[in-house]
Amino acid sequence: MNILIMGPAGAGKGTMSDLIIKHYDIPHISTGDMLRENVKNNTELGQQAKAYMNTGKLVPDELINAMVEKRLLEDDCQKGYLLDGFPRTLVQAKAFEEMAERIGKPVECVLALEVGFDTLADRITGRRICSKCGAIYHLRHHPSKKEGICDECGSELTQRKDDTVEQLKVRMDEYEAKTAPIIEYFEPKGVVTRIDASKDADFTFAQVKEALGKVA
Ligand code: AMP
Repeated sequence: MNILIMGPAGAGKGTMSDLIIKHYDIPHISTGDMLRENVKNNTELGQQAKAYMNTGKLVPDELINAMVEKRLLEDDCQKGYLLDGFPRTLVQAKAFEEMAERIGKPVECVLALEVGFDTLADRITGRRICSKCGAIYHLRHHPSKKEGICDECGSELTQRKDDTVEQLKVRMDEYEAKTAPIIEYFEPKGVVTRIDASKDADFTFAQVKEALGKVA
């Protein structure tokens, strides 16, 4: 199953992705996570990407496209992939479509998560992420048992540098200008399902399962 999951920051892509990969034996590939890993390890790619990421800007297409192609050719993508955070621009979308066809892994389902700005602001300012295992919490809606500590592995919870209302505005503007047109680009190909992601995770996941059920 070859899936793209799309939606603005805070739409719940991470949470839905965790649920999807439990049901389907495919890897969750988040370009944001891959880039953060590169920054953490101070790789050449990480050094190039860092300044863009810290200001909420998109990392240049050619860096991202090459990183994704390499990743999709790894063994664990044989049954498919769940791509999260990519493509983010029309240029990336067209390059991706060509590349996915070429390597025999064309996209089968685009999940477009839809949520309004106020709900997103509430979600991202309260979001806390485990520095070690990546588990996601929310100060009010999904707090850890002990404040600041991960329930799963006992490590410290951190807030992403770009999880602020100011950065959200920048990321939303980028999303509207560059990413929303991608959904419109894929729509005539009959692979897009729009999902109401403004309520809880169960409500969202029920719609996701229905959409994926039509492909499987
Ligand atoms: P995310 O975790 O998906 O919100 O990504 C965090 C940051 O990584 C973004 O604000 C961008 O700077 C960068 N990034 C992630 N995915 C992409 C992409 N497909 N194209 C360009 N930049 C990206």
